[in-house]
Amino acid sequence: MKRAKGLRLAALALGGAVLLSGCVTRTEPSVSTQIFVMDTIMSLELWEGGSQEQLNQAVEQLYQWEDLWSATDEDSEIWAADHSGGEWGTLSGDTVDLLSQALDLCRLTGGALDLTAYSAVKAWGFTTGEYRVPEEEELAALADGIDHTQVELDRDACRVRLPAGMELDLGAVAKGYAGARLAEQLREQGVTSALLNLGGNVQTVGGKPDGSPWSVGVQDPASEQVDNLLAIQVVDQAVVTSGSYQRCFQQDGQTYWHILDPETAAPARTGLASVTVVGPDGTVCDGLATALFVLGEEAGIELWRAHSELGVQVIWVREDGSVIKLGDRDVLVRLDPMVIDGEPKGTVLMLQYVENLQKAEIAVRQKLNQKGLVAKYSFQDIIGHSAPIQRAVEQAKRFARTDSDVLIIGESGTGKELF
Ligand code: ADP
Ligand code: MG
Repeated sequence: MKRAKGLRLAALALGGAVLLSGCVTRTEPSVSTQIFVMDTIMSLELWEGGSQEQLNQAVEQLYQWEDLWSATDEDSEIWAADHSGGEWGTLSGDTVDLLSQALDLCRLTGGALDLTAYSAVKAWGFTTGEYRVPEEEELAALADGIDHTQVELDRDACRVRLPAGMELDLGAVAKGYAGARLAEQLREQGVTSALLNLGGNVQTVGGKPDGSPWSVGVQDPASEQVDNLLAIQVVDQAVVTSGSYQRCFQQDGQTYWHILDPETAAPARTGLASVTVVGPDGTVCDGLATALFVLGEEAGIELWRAHSELGVQVIWVREDGSVIKLGDRDVLVRLDPMVIDGEPKGTVLMLQYVENLQKAEIAVRQKLNQKGLVAKYSFQDIIGHSAPIQRAVEQAKRFARTDSDVLIIGESGTGKELF
């Protein structure tokens, strides 16, 4: 169904709290708007160097992309490709570009990201909200029909061909790509500071107007409110989360969500609640977030290690609320709450990748000092003095590049993070 044009105009009119110029630190964007597009609420804020006209252009661009890529709109290019009965379908340049990058990511992730999962997504009712749990036989047939390697993309002739009956959707990558492209356009137009939140896919342009990084929160999946588990500091980067809590339904005590494992055509169940990917390329971040959610912790960490060229930082949040953060520098494992000998003792562990353990020890001592904990614990005391901590140490060693890279700090009985 087509969206009424009036909605677009209303959305455009919403934008534009214009800030009076002056030598004060900006507390509001110079222009901003919120729109509903690509099935989600997006907020666009231009903080420095942006105009209302540029904002309107960005909004119009998002609506155009939605018209091209919606899998449910019978006028879209994707709909045409999905219903072409095995014939070639023509694509515009932007669609070829997105599809080509997305198919690369399907290959890079060994098919954990698979754009041809759409028939399965539909079978579960995620496209209509009329949810159902397909029988095992149906799932097996659906899984057989998922295979990105059968998508033929002819870049030169701008066309695509899928086997009859196979359907693709770009839901797992479109918002990340849109963010990346908009950021690129805005930069070219002289915008030096902008924050685009495309339905949870955050894309930043530059840093804040004062030059400091943007602080982007990673949501606590267990929280009813929109509480943040931790915040990431970014400049010119995308921060994209895929989570089981984002679109799901319950039946017979089980929860089912919209991220499917292409091997089973059923929701990917690997003990993760969410995966956040931070990096320079929004398309990569979006595709990887979905794929890493499907792959689970072990295989995901392996993929992250094998592809340092992507320059991404990843935050895995497990269903029990613990966190693994892998980036250039550090790993954070939060085990909270923790029970020791039947007694609840909130314990938080910090694991870091460090180049220089001595330097880290000094930093840790300073932190402990600031918190008034130095008298309570010596550096040695806080290394591995209980069974749960030992387990965490072993885990840390698995992630670390060398044994000496692992530094463990735990504070028993307070449940507070040291950092
Ligand atoms: P969101 O779109 O909610 O931000 P994702 O980027 O993780 O979340 O994309 C999930 C969407 O992608 C699903 O709604 C579905 O349309 C599609 N999808 C589900 N599983 C896969 C998969 N394994 N590979 C590619 N697309 C998928
Ligand atoms: Mg995604």
